[in-house]
Amino acid sequence: MKNLAIIVPYRDREENKKIFIPYLNEYLRNKNLRFDIFIIEQGDTKPFNRGKLLNVGYSFSSKLEEYESFVMHDVDMLPVNVDYSTPTIPTHLASRVEQFNWGIPYQLYFGGITSFPSKVFEKVNGYSNRYWGWGCEDDDMFYRIQYNGIDWSRREGGMVRSLNHTPQADQEEHSKKNSDLMQEAWLKKLDHKQEGLNTLEYEPTSYAHDGDHYLVSVNL
Ligand code: UDP
Ligand code: MN
Repeated sequence: MKNLAIIVPYRDREENKKIFIPYLNEYLRNKNLRFDIFIIEQGDTKPFNRGKLLNVGYSFSSKLEEYESFVMHDVDMLPVNVDYSTPTIPTHLASRVEQFNWGIPYQLYFGGITSFPSKVFEKVNGYSNRYWGWGCEDDDMFYRIQYNGIDWSRREGGMVRSLNHTPQADQEEHSKKNSDLMQEAWLKKLDHKQEGLNTLEYEPTSYAHDGDHYLVSVNL
C-alpha cells in the first residue's frame, strides 16, 4: 500500500507541468512518502472539466494500486510547506497560496490541493461531472461532503507557490452558468448518488508511465 496518489487535472499547460513534476517528486521523496503522480489529460477540445478529470484519476489510480489517500492537485501549485500525510476526513491543504495573497480566496474554498481518504471519496460519489469550463466543481464537492454529514478540515501552514499561466477563456461566462447549475442542483437537493463517480463515462486515448509520473489521456 502506498501513501498517496497525486491526481492532476491537465490540458495545455506544458510550461507548468515541466516545473511541477520534478519539483513535486523531489518534495514528496524528501518527506519519505510513497506516492505516484497521475497527470490526467483532457485530449478533446470541449471546455475543460476539472471534476470529471479528477474522477477519471481516482478511477484509474485506484484500480492500479492501493493508496491511503488521493490528493487532487492543480498543476500550477508548488508546495513550500504542505503536510501531505494521510487524513481521516477530507482535508484542504492549499491554505496559504501565493496567487491569493498567501491566503485563500474565500472561507469555504476547497480547491487547489485537497486530500481524500479513499473511502470518503467513494462515499460522496466523487466529483460532479457536470461542470464544464471554469468554476464550481470544488464548491459542489464541498456540498457533497456536507450533504453526507462528513467532517472536513483545513491544514494551516499549507504554503504554496503559484506558477503563472494565461487564464482560461470565457471564465466568467462558465462561472455564471456553473453556479446556476450548482444552485439548482442543491436547491432541489439533488441526490449526489445520481451523478458522479458512478456515472463517469470517458474514452481513454493513451497511457504512459514515464519513470516519475503516469500520463493518462482521455476524451471526456
Ligand atoms: N487546468 C489545465 N488546463 C486548463 C485549465 C485548467 O491544466 O486549460 C488545470 C490545471 O491543473 C490548473 C487547474 O486545472 O492548475 C485549475 O485551473 P486554473 O489554474 O485555470 O484555475 P485558477 O487559476 O483560476 O484557480
Ligand atoms: Mn491557476
